[in-house]
Parts: sequence; structure tokens; C-alpha cells
Amino acid sequence: MPYIVAIDQGTTSTRAILFDQQGSPVASGQLEHRQIFPQPGWVEHDAAEIWRNTREVIGTALSKADVTRHDIAGIGITNQRETTVVWDRTTGEPIHNAIVWQDTRTQGLVDRLAADGGIDRFTEITGLPLATYFSATKIAWILDNVDGARQRAEAGELMFGTTDCWVLWNLTGGPDGGVHATDVTNASRTLLMDLRTLEWRDDLLEAFGIPRSLMPEIRPSSGLFGHAESSSLLREVPITGVLGDQQAATFGQVAFDAGESKNTYGTGNFLIVNTGEEIVSSTNGLLTTVAYQIDGDAPRYALEGSIAVTGSLVQWLRDNLGLISDASEVEALAASVPDNGGVYIVPAFSGLFAPYWRPDARGVITGLTRFANKGHFARAALEAAAFQTREVLDAANADADVAIEELRVDGGMVANDTLMQFQADILGIPVVRPKVPETTALGAAYAAGLATGVWTSLDDLRANWAEDRRWEPRFDEAERERRLAEWRKAVTRSFDWVDAD
Ligand code: ADP
Repeated sequence: MPYIVAIDQGTTSTRAILFDQQGSPVASGQLEHRQIFPQPGWVEHDAAEIWRNTREVIGTALSKADVTRHDIAGIGITNQRETTVVWDRTTGEPIHNAIVWQDTRTQGLVDRLAADGGIDRFTEITGLPLATYFSATKIAWILDNVDGARQRAEAGELMFGTTDCWVLWNLTGGPDGGVHATDVTNASRTLLMDLRTLEWRDDLLEAFGIPRSLMPEIRPSSGLFGHAESSSLLREVPITGVLGDQQAATFGQVAFDAGESKNTYGTGNFLIVNTGEEIVSSTNGLLTTVAYQIDGDAPRYALEGSIAVTGSLVQWLRDNLGLISDASEVEALAASVPDNGGVYIVPAFSGLFAPYWRPDARGVITGLTRFANKGHFARAALEAAAFQTREVLDAANADADVAIEELRVDGGMVANDTLMQFQADILGIPVVRPKVPETTALGAAYAAGLATGVWTSLDDLRANWAEDRRWEPRFDEAERERRLAEWRKAVTRSFDWVDAD
């Protein structure tokens, strides 16, 4: 019985999940890592801690399932995207904490670059607007702010990678012959890759001041990357799949063809609509990105609506306001009131991503009256995820030719039935949850298993997908529109908060 190990290096934790040939999870290990907030707007991770956790969770998963490396056909890696690690190629030591995708410290650099050509200066080539979100300005910040980093980079002593690349390099030996590579989906989130050629662009590297010697090799998502090194529990097992988390979830939801889509509710929300071999540019605030590439085949592209804050708003209610002690308690608190009582929370903690792209926005709570209580806050927090999703879905429908008729969902928040019902109500289309909710890890396992013959075709994978639950919309059109209009009004209240200095 061949198994696949999927390593899911996420924003809040690292997981290893062992999947069987039916795509069912058999055993897993999970460890959270520290979220480091040195200043408002700054978010860092300790990359060394992430690698230690990765090794430990692999051990946990293998021992729980009582299997050894001989039972494992391949390893897939999926990861929080854009988060930037720069390390010394000889010692393997990161030269700074990883700068996380939510971090906004590079807004000044973004503004300076945008002054010459606007935020869409590189969109035609990369599919992305200029924003702090993507890796390029984070790399530049490290080179400019760590003592001696620029000289060391120019001398070829440093390596850059997103966390897939960091895990891959360490797993394959680190300073001792580690493979310095990433996949097309992760590379497409840096602002440095050409979507058409799938190569780094010298003019972009130059614009951001990044020496080419830092950059990993770009490879297809499903294909051989290397083998786990000799001291690893997974010694000699091939690593044959790498996908950024959102693309992995799309793969795990078997949305392989043009027109198929998925929406993931995690720290943030990410809607992906597959556009097949066609590169579609958005006129409605969506990103163009690589969906996946199977070795030897053409790349598949996608439109993406990224929302920075959804599940992390629930964490904020828990950690910063102390309204709940566990994320799952938000549902009961929300259910203590019949509706939001007129309260809207726009969680523009690091500006607004799709479809607005407003770095000047900051969070607001609107509609407060003496009547509002913590139940309304809980409900407004859940509704914020649903309203933001409605707005990116509208953008996707406007950009793509075919309207999305039902929404396949996954991620930590989809355990919340109240949210899922409200999501269907506010979208006006059914919301569908699959049997295996771990679609991100599953997608990485699928990419790895396809390359090693555990599965022989995409149809094998399609046959594994099964529906768990479906929510039908209940609001009439007038009710839906009334609530949306209030939400949109609340969104405008978040604009123009941060001054351009
Ligand atoms: P990520 O992969 O981005 O770390 P997950 O998919 O694990 O995220 O989802 C975790 C997020 O889901 C957290 O932000 C948490 O606040 C939120 N969450 C978890 N359970 C619930 C729940 N029952 N209701 C609402 N939100 C939840």
C-alpha cells in the first residue's frame, strides 16, 4: 500500500499528513510556530523554528501510522506563499526572520516604485499589482537592512526562497547538496517571474535590486525535485510535488479545468478560478497566477481573489479582545443573536486586498449603537468573511466568461455551519463542502503521487472527490442587496486612513 506524505507549511502551523491511495488522511502531526510582531504592520516567523517543526511533525505522522520510509512513495510540499526567507548557503542560517506575506513594512518602497508607472507597472508580465504582499520588496528590505547582506548577496553567499523552497533545501541536505528550487506557482507570487516564460526576469530583478544568484530554480509543480537526505526519517524518498497553498487547495478540490473554482477560508480567504491554458488579465482587481504545471505539460493559469483577513479576525476576537477562548466558540457566540444588529467589521488590518487594493485602508467597526453586544461582534466577524467573498466572486464573474454556479469551499472556517449558511445566503448560489476538508495538503499529495505513479491520471483524482454537505441560499434578492449595500458603505469608511508618508 503506497502512502504519500504531504508537508503543509502554513502561516500559523506546520503539518505533516500521511494520505493513502484513496486520498484519505491516515495520520498527521501538527505544530504551531511563533507569530512575531516587532512593530504595527510587521509580521515575522523564525525560519529555523519552522524547519525544526517540520522534522518533528513528519516523525509524529509516521509513528502514529506506524509506517516507515519504505511505505512512502513520495513527498509533497505546500506552503504559505510569498513569505520570504534569505539564508546563508554555507551555514544554512537565515540572516533575518522570515518576512510574512501579511507584513506591510515595504509600503514605502512600493510607493517609490509605483511613482514611476503606477501599481500596474509589472502586471502585464507578472499578473500582479505592486504590493507589499508579494516577495520582491521583502527580499529587497532584507538586503537593505541586514548588515552586510547586499555585499554577501552580490558575492553569491545567500539564497532566497519562499517556505516551500526553505523546507525543500533543508530536506534534501541543506548546505550539503540541498536542492535550491521552487515551483511555478510559488514563483508566480514573487513579482519577479514572467507568467509566459516561467523564468525570472532580469529587468524585474534589477528594478527591485535583487542579484540573480539569490534565486532558486523554477520547476513544474508535479515532477522530481530531489530526494530526502540520508539522516532524514524519509531518507531517499523522492520529493515530487510542490504547490503554494492556494494552488494546492485548488488541486485538492480537483478543479483542474477551465471554469472550475474553489474558495479557501483560513487566515485569509483565497478564491481561485481556473482559466486553463489561457492567461486572463483582470479588470476587476483579481490577480493572474499559475494554477499548476505537471512536468512535460503546459502550465495552467488562474484568476485569484485574495482577501487578507478572514479567519484571523476570529483570532483577533480571541487573542486581542478575549471575547472567546477558542476559534470554534465564535459560532455559539454569533448564534446568541438573530442578526448582526447593524454592526459591520471591515478588517482592513493591513489595508484591503482584492478587489480594492487599498493600502491606505485600516480596520473599522461601523453601525455601533447602545444595543450592540459581543454576539453582534461575533456575527459581524463571520459575515465579514462572507461579504468579502461575495465581492471577489462578483469580480471573478465579471472577468471570466462563465458565471460560477456553485462554490466549493475548504479551510479551517468551513467547520462553521452558521458562516457557510450565511455565505450561501449572501452569494445566492449553493456552497459545497467536500468530505476531505484538508484540501491543501491533499493537493500537494496529489501532485506528488501523480509523479510517482500512485495515481496515473487526473481522472483517478477526480474519482476521489466526494461531497460532504451543501448549503442552499435562503435570502430573497431584496434582503441580499440591502445587506450588501450596508457592507459596501462600511467598506468606504475604512478608506483614506493611513497618510501617504
Ligand atoms: P491557515 O492554513 O491559514 O493557517 P486554517 O485553514 O487552519 O488556516 O484555518 C484556521 C483559521 O480558521 C483561523 O484563523 C481560525 O481563527 C479560523 N477558525 C477555526 N475554526 C473556526 C470556526 N469554527 N469558526 C470560525 N473560524 C474558525
